[in-house]
Amino acid sequence: MTTYIILLGPPGAGKGTQAQAISETLRLPHISSGDIFRENLKKETELGKLAAGFMNKGELVPDDVTIAMIRERLTRSDCQAGALLDGFPRTPAQAVALSNMLEELGGQVAAVPYISVPEPVLIERLTGRWTCRQAGHIFHEKYNPSRQPGRCDFDGSELYQREDDKAETVTRRIRVYLEQTKPLIDYYQQLGCLIEVDGTLPIEQVTANLLAALPANE
Ligand code: ADP
Ligand code: ADP
Repeated sequence: MTTYIILLGPPGAGKGTQAQAISETLRLPHISSGDIFRENLKKETELGKLAAGFMNKGELVPDDVTIAMIRERLTRSDCQAGALLDGFPRTPAQAVALSNMLEELGGQVAAVPYISVPEPVLIERLTGRWTCRQAGHIFHEKYNPSRQPGRCDFDGSELYQREDDKAETVTRRIRVYLEQTKPLIDYYQQLGCLIEVDGTLPIEQVTANLLAALPANE
C-alpha cells in the first residue's frame, strides 16, 4: 500500500519536529521541501541559488521549480511505499500537482494532519529555533534544548539560527502562509483527509496524538 501523509500547518507549528519523531514508526521517508532547498543552498547548486533569493525574503519559491523538485524526489526508490511530506504542498497549485503526481505513481493522500498553533506562539517558536547543520535536526532554546548548548544531540554538529527565523522575516512568512497555504486546509477537508491536531501541547503529547489519529495506526 502506498501511503502519502502531508503535514500541514503554519511555519513553527512543529511539522519538522513531528516528522522527525514519527517517520521511523510509520516507515516512511521524511521529505521536507525546506530541507531540500537548504541542502541545495549548502552545495551551491543552481536550484539553491535561485531558492535563496525567495527564502531569505520569506517568500515562496515559484511553484514550477518546487513541483519539479518534489516530483524528482518522490520517484526515488526510497519512496516506493510512500512518503511523509513536510512543507509541501504550500499552494493550491502545488496541491493539484501533487494529486496528479500521486495518481501517476499509483498512490493517494492517506491523511493530512493539520497541526494548529496560534500566531503569537509561532513567533516565539521560530525566533528560538536552533537547527543542526548536518541533518536539520530541530531544537528550541526553551522548549526543546539540546543537551550541550550549540551542539546537536544526534550527530554532534553545530546548531545555527536560520537566516529566515529573524523576527521580521518570520512575520512575512506567517503572512505568506495565511495568504497562500491556509486555503489548503479547506481543500483537504473537502477531500475528507484532514485531521486537526492541537500543536500547542508538549512535543511528545503532539506525537502521541498524531500517531493515534493516523488511519494506519487505528
Ligand atoms: P515547522 O517545521 O512547522 O516550521 P518546527 O518543527 O521546526 O516547525 O518547530 C518550530 C520550533 O518550535 C522548533 O524550535 C521546535 O523545537 C519548537 N517546537 C516544535 N513543537 C513544539 C511544541 N509542541 N511545543 C513547543 N515547542 C515546539
Ligand atoms: P518552516 O519549517 O518554517 O515551515 P521550511 O523549512 O518548510 O520552513 O521552508 C523554508 C522556506 O523554503 C520557505 O519560506 C520557502 O521560501 C521555501 N519553501 C519550502 N517549501 C516550499 C514550497 N512547498 N513552496 C515554495 N517554497 C517553499
